[in-house]
Amino acid sequence: MSSFPGLIEGYPEVAVDLFMGKCLEASFFFLSHLHTDHMRGLRSRALQEALKALPEPRLFCSRQSAALLASWRDFGQLRPYLCPLEVGEPRQLTDRLLVTLLPAGHCPGSVMLLFEAGGGTVLYTGDFRMGAAELRGLAPLHDAAGRPKQLDLLYVDTTFCTPGRRDLPDRQRSADRVVQLVCEWLARDPRHRANLVCHARYGYEHVFSRLREATGQPVHVSPDKLALYERLPEIAACLTPRPHETRVHSCPPYSSCLLEVGEGSLRTVKLSTLYFFIDQSVDTMVLQVGAAQDYRVLYSFHASLRQVEEMVRYLRPARVVPCVEPVGGSIRFRGPRGAGPFASIDGSR
Ligand SMILES: [Zn+2]
Ligand SMILES: [Zn+2]
Repeated sequence: MSSFPGLIEGYPEVAVDLFMGKCLEASFFFLSHLHTDHMRGLRSRALQEALKALPEPRLFCSRQSAALLASWRDFGQLRPYLCPLEVGEPRQLTDRLLVTLLPAGHCPGSVMLLFEAGGGTVLYTGDFRMGAAELRGLAPLHDAAGRPKQLDLLYVDTTFCTPGRRDLPDRQRSADRVVQLVCEWLARDPRHRANLVCHARYGYEHVFSRLREATGQPVHVSPDKLALYERLPEIAACLTPRPHETRVHSCPPYSSCLLEVGEGSLRTVKLSTLYFFIDQSVDTMVLQVGAAQDYRVLYSFHASLRQVEEMVRYLRPARVVPCVEPVGGSIRFRGPRGAGPFASIDGSR
């Protein structure tokens, strides 16, 4: 859960990922991605009033987020205020405010925000998942000579900065394990069915497409879930609202389509991260829960501690602000500029 207060130091005219209280006094609103802990206040009348009072549409996000949000029925009222920006293209909003969206690798449409000009050079990662190699490829983070720009401040996603679990498998590997578990189960008996359980509203799309590819069957989802992808046809193509068309589901437990499945024929695969933090001595990415066909696969939307360390070492910001109190502990960044790279992140449990 993000603990970021919504306001960017040096840029009081900007509010990011929080749309209530003092943030409503901003003149430019930014949304990094569409997970609920970054959308607090987004549906409020107070935000609409604040947006209405501004001279032009000023709720900025990526083109993909804007497309998603515009099609979500519960956010339709925001459509007139949405201002999609292209990822990687700097936009001068005022003399003292230059903003660039950068890919965040977290979920469809997710971006990091780079603010430059009057208030210093500030990077807000939002929720992100990427390693040093990907960061090196982001031109707007580098000067003309290809060196990382000197950041005055870095707001960084520290959700899973837990020393006991430094690394998290990349999502490709997690998807491989899901596919393996599902295909193996379906091959065993024609009556078998599999259900993929995901807790966030969206962000698992590449697992759907991998399952579609590997099993040759679309994934059954509820009509509401399918509606989320109205404007993203390549994702919708992996899904079906018709339960009898497929043996692969991604439906809430106890959905009628699952209750129809014969006793002992359903394998459940749940994508989790926190579950794997409970006992950090167990170094695995698949756990069977009890004796039943109930599996957990380690899957993380967020950067691992190692990736956060890599980012901080590479960018060497003058200051770092963690945006999330990490699971099971607290975090402290050490190493002022000039005294060598930010070598250490202390986490305590
Ligand atoms: Zn998120
Ligand atoms: Zn279903």
